[in-house]
Amino acid sequence: MTQSQRPVQRLVVKIGSGLIRTPEGRLNEDAVRQYAKQLATLRKQGVEVILVSSGAIALGLPVLQQQRMPRTIALQQAAAAIGQSHLIRNYERLFGRFDQQVAQILLTHADLRDRGRYLNARNTLQTLIAYNVIPIINENDTVSVDEIRFGDNDSLSAMVCNLIDADTLMILTDIDGLYSADPRLDPDAVLIPVVENLDRRIEALAGRTTHATGRGGMYSKIQAAKIAGASGIHTYIANGLKPDIITQVLDGEARCTHIHPPVAGKLSSRKRWIGYALKAKGTIVVDDGAKHALTIQGKSLLPSGIIEIREDFDFGDAVYCTDASETRFAQGLVNYSSQELLAIIGQHTSRIETILGQKAYDEVIHRDNLVLLSSV
Ligand code: GLU
Repeated sequence: MTQSQRPVQRLVVKIGSGLIRTPEGRLNEDAVRQYAKQLATLRKQGVEVILVSSGAIALGLPVLQQQRMPRTIALQQAAAAIGQSHLIRNYERLFGRFDQQVAQILLTHADLRDRGRYLNARNTLQTLIAYNVIPIINENDTVSVDEIRFGDNDSLSAMVCNLIDADTLMILTDIDGLYSADPRLDPDAVLIPVVENLDRRIEALAGRTTHATGRGGMYSKIQAAKIAGASGIHTYIANGLKPDIITQVLDGEARCTHIHPPVAGKLSSRKRWIGYALKAKGTIVVDDGAKHALTIQGKSLLPSGIIEIREDFDFGDAVYCTDASETRFAQGLVNYSSQELLAIIGQHTSRIETILGQKAYDEVIHRDNLVLLSSV
């Protein structure tokens, strides 16, 4: 299947645990050498390459006599500590065969949530790229607890794309791409080669599957494509078990899924940070009028349109906006705490001062601090 070729300047490639590890639990040396060869060649051709590699937990598990992803966080973290050093040592060795220097970067979600740390990570990555080094990124699993976790490396890879303004994300997994149904269960399932509009229909196709040794499934890959799309990035989901897959995808010759970013264009760096680097602390449920004002008219959120507040949050936190039918359509920075909002919910802005004793803002979320999620 030939797809249209696009020029690629800055590429993030994500490799899943299932591709790094053999079924017996050892490093899949042949596969990793093949990836290293293709990426080192691309680098020499001038493409700036960043690798996001899973596999730390998967490679550490056998040392701890574990067959599958353990339930306890402590065991997962111990496995990651063992596996990560094994992983990076082998990457260094195998990339070295192609004269390519690599560097290890371990990130937690907290590193990207804090604007200062976000910019710091960005500078480090830019410098490595400028010096022709291929950064190899993984989640810092040994210290990641739920609060600060990306959760899976698909989301991590999309956030890395945002962080360093990549133009292309390639997610390598063990099937050819997104199918009309689960190909392991449905013989009539067909591959979807191109997704021009990543809407709910497409999201619904990606079931929430998980793997024995990794965390992502097709659902998390589609979510990653959504995050990348907000930055105008093209995503390819392709089969890492196939020889020369990275080169073939870039040459437009692979059987894979190519997900286009939305035509609406790219969000600013600050809005991407608000919408995708921050984790929402709570939810504001709004009525249809307010949803229309936010999504169609580009207005700010006022207390009068709010019908419910969920969870505790403070001034300045990120929150989701959902409608009455539970569709999460926006994320923004809130000007009032959940306690204050409970007091002014449904009220006209002119009443805020009387009720709270002061009024810092008319808007609960200002339009400049609001990112529409349904538009991506
Ligand atoms: N960071 C995990 C690891 O290296 C993998 C997470 C994932 O499977 O997405 O083992």
